[in-house]
Parts: sequence; structure tokens; C-alpha cells
Amino acid sequence: MKLYVSATLRSFFGRNAKLDVHAKTIKEAFAWLEAEYPDAKKVLFDEDGRLRSFIRIYVGEKNRTPEEHWEEVIEESEEVLFLPAIAGGAPEDSLISEERRKAVSFDDAEVERFGKHMMLREIGVKGQKRIKAARVVVAGAGALGSAVIQYLAAAGVGTIKVIDPEDVKLSDLQSQVIHGTRDVKRPKAASAKDTVRNINRSIVFESETAPLEASMIADAIDGFDLVVDCSDNYKARYLINDACYLCGIPTVFGAIYQYEGQVGIFNLKNGPCLRCLFPTPPPAGLVPTCAEGGTISPLSGIVGSIQANEALKLILGIGESLAGKLLTVDTLNLHSHILTVEKEHHCTLCGDVPTIKGVQEFDYDDFCGLREPEEEVPIEGFTPEEFARRIENKDPITIVDVREPHERAILRFPDAVVIPIGQLARRKNELDPEKDTIFICKQGQRSILAINTLREAGYQGPLYNLKGGLDAMKDIMFSHEGAWL
Ligand SMILES: [Zn+2]
Repeated sequence: MKLYVSATLRSFFGRNAKLDVHAKTIKEAFAWLEAEYPDAKKVLFDEDGRLRSFIRIYVGEKNRTPEEHWEEVIEESEEVLFLPAIAGGAPEDSLISEERRKAVSFDDAEVERFGKHMMLREIGVKGQKRIKAARVVVAGAGALGSAVIQYLAAAGVGTIKVIDPEDVKLSDLQSQVIHGTRDVKRPKAASAKDTVRNINRSIVFESETAPLEASMIADAIDGFDLVVDCSDNYKARYLINDACYLCGIPTVFGAIYQYEGQVGIFNLKNGPCLRCLFPTPPPAGLVPTCAEGGTISPLSGIVGSIQANEALKLILGIGESLAGKLLTVDTLNLHSHILTVEKEHHCTLCGDVPTIKGVQEFDYDDFCGLREPEEEVPIEGFTPEEFARRIENKDPITIVDVREPHERAILRFPDAVVIPIGQLARRKNELDPEKDTIFICKQGQRSILAINTLREAGYQGPLYNLKGGLDAMKDIMFSHEGAWL
């Protein structure tokens, strides 16, 4: 038989909503469940072995009691439902602890302001306190962010952090309704702050106007309950996904293009991540962005509102969330689907043998095909032969290895300083500007990025690239000329 487990009981059944139970009667079903999920016994039965009274068992639409229907044979096509009583949200499913909820109080104006929430059975005063205690990051104050930020603010989320490096453009106003004409050329984060303060001055509003980078994202989301991904590019999406997974913060994902939208929840408890669904982004330039492909104005409101709604449900611990699912909406033809997203055992981030252990070691620009084909300032490089000669002559040079840990494990380069690209700008003082510094990677591409990164960070010393990377160097390294290896 098929057994449907209500959300409040799910933590006792491996977080499954649906179970395939090998049983013909409810009695057999309980025996099977006790064997499979020993923890469930104490929640289902009291000390005397009686079914606890707050749980109802339904077969189809009919209530079934232990006394009368325990041994009745149930058709295989019937769905059996465990329905518990719900009282204002289930604390065990909420992202907000009881301790944090209890620390919140309301004044008279807040009781009036949030009355329509408090009268909802699933929210109530307790739920509204969870919303006020919540700390949410909204990555992007553009089209999706406009709806998400305004609804979270109106709903009473106590702390909202907005990350967006851009200024408002005239062309943004067609869909980014958090900004107005007078905000053009202002930072989006500042404009969003004004709107939020106009909604509710007591909200703690934090902002970050730097672009999302591996070097700062962990600090930017640290201490928050939830990240709502309202970004508009693949680099930001994968960076958000990876950082959230590694920091144990759930992500409410949203994306729009022309008339279509997607919403999903990733990184919730043991649920799937974005890489489980899409292991890699499309090659750069293959799929147009919103800016290139266009988008109908209300779409961002529709998708962003669903994201805000999912965010509130996670904060409250109520309802059926989109965790492990992807909602797709086609607003041109009004079709929608909810697809199942499986946790992928081979996932490079959250699978059984992950290769991504930290965002700083992962090259997001390379992964997303964002490498600049031409450098603005030509980069000088050494051929493998020149490089080998300088090492043999014991020239005073600094060698910086920017490869991933697993690449270095295969081929370790002697006397090289290891600095991940994401940390270069921050650690530039470790390099001596009086000395020639040579960057090495596998194929000589990431080392170009490393040099550009350092130049952008204002580093003045001479920087060189190993042309063709260590791949081009192998013949020398493994021959008699490479005796220094
Ligand atoms: Zn994954």
C-alpha cells in the first residue's frame, strides 16, 4: 500500500512524504513501519501500545480506527494517510528555534499590523514571532528580488540582507518594481533599503554592494537562516548553492526567462542541491540572459512571490514545501508542473564522494565559461624552456600554484606557493613585488585570471604566466633537464 506521511510526522520517517509499505492491513503496516523506522514507534503509540489520540488514520477518505478496522484488507490502489493534529506550525520543521521565537515580543502596533497573519491557524502569534526572529539573505535586488524583498518586509521578517552590486538602470524599471524613476543610477541596495523602510521602519536592513565572490560569500551569509537566490547569472547561482550547502543554509531558488519561471528549494537538511539538478551551467553565450532574451513584466512578481511564500513556509515550518521539487510555470500558456528533484549520489558538491570542499578552491569563472578571450593588458609569459632555465639558474623568483587540491595531489610542483585564486587579492602582501612572480596552473588559463585578479587588486610587481601550463611542461619535468623536480 501507499502511505502518505503528513509533514509534522515526517522527521520520524526519514523525511519521506510517501512510503511504499509492504503490508495488506493497517496492523501489518505498523509492524513494517516499526521495523523500518524504530524511532516512529514512540510518536505513534503511547506507553500502553495504543495509537496516540492526536493521530488519525485515513484510508482514502474514510477514517479508520484501531478497534474496528485494523485487520481490514486494504486495496493496493488505496492511499493510507497519517494525519496528526497541527497547532500553529510544527516547531521541529521551522528554521527558527523555540528559544529564538520565545525571545520575540510585539507591541500593539505590530499586533494590528500582522493581525491577518495571526488569525491564520498555521501561523498565529507563535508563527509571527518566528517570522520576526528570522534572518534572511536576498541575493539580488532586481526583478525577482523586488517581489521577494517587499513581501518578506511586509510579512514582518525581522532582518533582511540584500546583496546587489549594481545601480538601477532605466531599463530595470519595467520589472524591478522595488525601484522608481528617481532611483535610476542609485545603487539597487540603497533603493531597496528606502522601500523597505517605507514599509516597516523596524526591520533591520543590511546590505552588501560588492559582487558575489568566493572570497566573501561565506561571511556574507554567515548567521542567516535562509538565502533567497534572486540572482541573474550562473556564476552567482552556483556560488550561492555551494556556499549554502557548505554552510548548512537552505536556498530558495528562483529563475525567470521570457514567460517561464522556475522555483525550488535546495540544501534543506538532506535534500538535493542545484548541482544535483543541473551539474553544470550551459556554456557561456548558449542560453541568453533575461537582459538579452527579455521577460514579461509580471513574471518576476509571480515567481518572486512564490519564492517569498516558500521562504515564509520554511521559517514557519508549515505546509508542503518545494524541497526536493522544482515548480515550472509557463505564464504564456498557463501551464505549470511540479517535478521531483532527486538527490544525486554522484553530485560533485553533496554526493557520496564530493570534490568541491570549499568555494575558494573552485574556479567559478572557468566553470561558467566566463574567461575573457582577450586580456586588456597583454600578459607576459615564459615558455616551459625559459621557466626551467630560471629554476635551474636558481633565479630569485616566486612560483604561485593556483590549481585545485586534487590536481596538486596528482602532480606536486616543488617550491611553489599555493594560493587559490579567490584568496589572491586578499593575500597579495605575501608576494614580493621586487621579485618576478610566475603563476602556474594546468593549461595556462587560470593563471592568466590570477594575474588579472592581482592587477585589479592593485598589485604592482612583475607577474608572469607559464605558457601552456604544467601540461606543456611535462616533457621537461620528466626528462633529465628536469632533475630539479
Ligand atoms: Zn547536489
